[in-house]
Amino acid sequence: MSDPAESGPPNPTVDAANLREIAPGVFVIPDRRVPLVPNIGIIVGRDAALVVDCGMGPANGATVLEAARRVAGGRQLLLTITHFHPEHGFGAQAFRPEAAIIYNRAQRDDLRAKGQPYLDMFRGFHAGTAAALDGTVLVDPHAVYDGASAEIDLGGRRVELRTFGRAHTNGDQIIWLPEERILFTGDLAEERIFPIFPWFPPEDMDIDGANWAAVLQACADLNPATVVPGHGDVGGAEILAAVRGYMLALAASVAKLRRDGQDADAIVAALEPGVRAQYPGWESPEWIGFAIRYYASLG
Ligand SMILES: [Zn+2]
Repeated sequence: MSDPAESGPPNPTVDAANLREIAPGVFVIPDRRVPLVPNIGIIVGRDAALVVDCGMGPANGATVLEAARRVAGGRQLLLTITHFHPEHGFGAQAFRPEAAIIYNRAQRDDLRAKGQPYLDMFRGFHAGTAAALDGTVLVDPHAVYDGASAEIDLGGRRVELRTFGRAHTNGDQIIWLPEERILFTGDLAEERIFPIFPWFPPEDMDIDGANWAAVLQACADLNPATVVPGHGDVGGAEILAAVRGYMLALAASVAKLRRDGQDADAIVAALEPGVRAQYPGWESPEWIGFAIRYYASLG
C-alpha cells in the first residue's frame, strides 16, 4: 500500500527560504509550482514596503510577514492582494496588527460575500489544506479604493494598483511598477498552468471571459519587462499572450459547438482531450472542463 502522506497532494506551504530579488528592492517568494501556493511579492521603497499576496492561513501569513520584515528592515509594511481567493488572501490576519492593508472595493466585497464559502470549500480539499486553514479569521482591509486604480508611493518608488472589473473574479487587481516595468498579475495569468476558471454554479458564477482576455491585452499593452504570474515561473509578456491565446481559441471552439446544438457535457467530451494535447506540459488540466462549461453557459 502506498502511504497517503507520500502520494497525496503537497501541503500548500509558502517557503520563504526561496525568496529572491528579481530587481533591486523587488522580491518574490516563488510558488515552487506547488498547488495552492501563490507567487508572493515584496516591493521595498525608501519609506515603506508593499507585500503582494500572503498565502493561505495564519501560518503562511506569518511566514510571509516574517520575510517581509526581514527585507523591509524597519519600514512601514503594507499589504495588498491580487484577488480574494484563499491562497492569495487568507493569511492577511497575520498582517493586520502592524501592516496597512489596502484592497479595491470589489475585492473587499468578494471577500465579505464569498470568503466563508471558499474557506469551507478549501478546507474540504484535503488534510493539508484543512491544516493550513486551521485558525483562519477573515479580516477586512484597513482601506479600500474606488475606481480603476490607486497609486502608492513607497518612497522613491511608485506602485500602481489597477483593477478592471469582473474577469477571474470581481476584483482582480494587477500591481504594476511603471519604472521597473514589473507586473504582478495574480490569477489573471498563470504560467504553463491551465487558467483557473472558478465556475461553480450556482454558488459562484462571477467570471467574465471576454473582459479577462481584454485585461490580458491591456496588461500586454503596458509592455512589461517582467511578469510575475499568480502561479508558475516568473517570465515576460509571453505568459500573457499564452493565456490569452488559450482563452480566445477555447471560447471560439466552444461557441461553434454550441451553435451546432451541443450541450456542455458533449462539448467537454469533444474538446478536452485535444486541448490537453495542444498544451503539453501545462499543469492542472482539470480546469479545462470548468473553462469549457463557463464558455458553454454564454449560449
Ligand atoms: Zn484565483
